[in-house]
Amino acid sequence: MKYTLETIPVWDAVEDTSADCIFCTLMEAAELRSITYYLGSSVMNPETRVKVNSRGFCPDHYRALMQAAKPQAMALISHTHLMQTQKELRPLLAALQGTKRTAKSRKLIMQIRKMIRDREQGCLICDSMQETLNRYLYTFVFLWGENPEFREAVSRSNGICIHHLPSVLDMALEVLSGEVCADLFDAISEHMERWITQSVEDVHWMTQMYKSENRDKSWRGCEEAQKRAVRREIGSGRIIRNP
Ligand SMILES: [Zn+2]
Ligand SMILES: [Zn+2]
Repeated sequence: MKYTLETIPVWDAVEDTSADCIFCTLMEAAELRSITYYLGSSVMNPETRVKVNSRGFCPDHYRALMQAAKPQAMALISHTHLMQTQKELRPLLAALQGTKRTAKSRKLIMQIRKMIRDREQGCLICDSMQETLNRYLYTFVFLWGENPEFREAVSRSNGICIHHLPSVLDMALEVLSGEVCADLFDAISEHMERWITQSVEDVHWMTQMYKSENRDKSWRGCEEAQKRAVRREIGSGRIIRNP
């Protein structure tokens, strides 16, 4: 597959030592950009309206759009989206009217359920995040293969979360030559092993600090280790629906 390079944001995320995961940082920003885009002037664009009609947004992103408090844009989006839903639902509702409690009504309810489920499946924001993630993954792997300074910067960073691990490995397999790919596998495995071990120690120490005999001991910076451990395990910049 062909991807474009996005060198600057990937370098910035790698050099951000406060980030728990290079890709979560990038994806949180991508999600925000996408939400802003759909609530901006694009909402008036006929092409966007067609896409909003047909693909729509997953329930989580619909809620995120709503929370951004742009009532006019949301009115336009929901007008266009709800009309399509009405079009698809209307014949099913018409068929339901006057239907008794029979096998036919059971079949109709199944059809209604399927129609609504399909409507909730697609998401323009999730789709756009997936495209962006693919470009970032490609750029990361490409730079890692080309640039020793980038490898250094990655080894100084907090690396990647467990959620994003398989995506990085897949992209390395797709893009890198045999030897370079093996080097990346070594480096990523070693880095991952190191910080999982550290996280396990940190949360364990935290559990010990709740015992009365340890009351006077130092927290060793582990006051919020549970939050870090969960963020590193599930990631904070996830795509909700895979296309
Ligand atoms: Zn992540
Ligand atoms: Zn979504």
